[in-house]
Amino acid sequence: EDEKRKYVKGKKLGEGTYANVYLGHVRGDPSALVAIKKIKVQQQYRDGMAPDAVRELKYLRELHHPNIISLLSVFSSKDQNLNLVLEYLPLGDLEMLIRDVDRVRYGAADIKAWMGMLARAVWFCHDNFVLHRDIKPNNLLIAADGEVKLADFGLARSFADPGRRMTANVITRWYRPPELLFGARHYGGAVDIWSVGMVFAELIIRAPFLAGNTEVEQIALICKHIGTPTEDNWPGVTQLREYTVPSEVVPVWGKDAYMGRFGAVGPDGVDLLVRTVALDPKKRITAREMLEHRWWRTDPKPTRKEDLPRKS
Ligand code: ADP
Repeated sequence: EDEKRKYVKGKKLGEGTYANVYLGHVRGDPSALVAIKKIKVQQQYRDGMAPDAVRELKYLRELHHPNIISLLSVFSSKDQNLNLVLEYLPLGDLEMLIRDVDRVRYGAADIKAWMGMLARAVWFCHDNFVLHRDIKPNNLLIAADGEVKLADFGLARSFADPGRRMTANVITRWYRPPELLFGARHYGGAVDIWSVGMVFAELIIRAPFLAGNTEVEQIALICKHIGTPTEDNWPGVTQLREYTVPSEVVPVWGKDAYMGRFGAVGPDGVDLLVRTVALDPKKRITAREMLEHRWWRTDPKPTRKEDLPRKS
């Protein structure tokens, strides 16, 4: 209750699937802006994780990193709604920049800077045993100084206990990895890495890379553009409960096949991209390995955050 009184709620900033977001400020300090995210009642019990929801928030509260949105406070209002007080990020999100092709121009150095910030955010989550499970351009918000911040931890959870089954029904379809599309109930950080790969591809081509209208279509697009998951490239895949692929098997595309469409980030960038979209989650690059990749050190150097393109 003390926490609730600390903030003054202002105008509505936006409405999401799980929450309404309001501008707010610290009581007594109108310049100390915050975003207050009020979780919709029926959404608090999604994913059968109601008892976990508060616990997960506790983890998020402890995730302090420049590329992860800061959770400043949590309180429940009189109607039992959960309210998250978050740092206010005024410059929109990465999706807005990607889509505004006419007005926003960016190049390989900018993509490298944004991807570096995303990779560090994901590494920090995984290093703290937190899976985000909804990485997409729309959840990458931009701070006043250009820093990209991973936001919307509404589906996040701890994966500290690998013995526990988790729902496969997470991650927005276009960014969802094949193991989840095949119904895997035991998974790890690799699910977020696939999403990172999809964001990387989308930053380059400025359109969603694999935009399936259904889960079946999503699997078909993965098979067509990346390759068909088989026992050869992914031992055990055919045992997953919802494994089905189009009958015409497509061999996994090599780096060269990606160069035409994604070559703007150079051969090292394409190498990193290909490693993020390895079909077998065991072979997919980890967040730590991403940070050690040579692409970050080859020219061009990543753009300084203050110099990154912003919405007009
Ligand atoms: P969605 O992800 O469906 O857009 P959200 O609930 O995450 O829904 O957010 C709804 C809207 O509120 C977003 O479009 C965004 O513009 C705004 N918003 C969310 N969080 C913040 C924040 N920390 N600072 C500023 N605006 C925010």
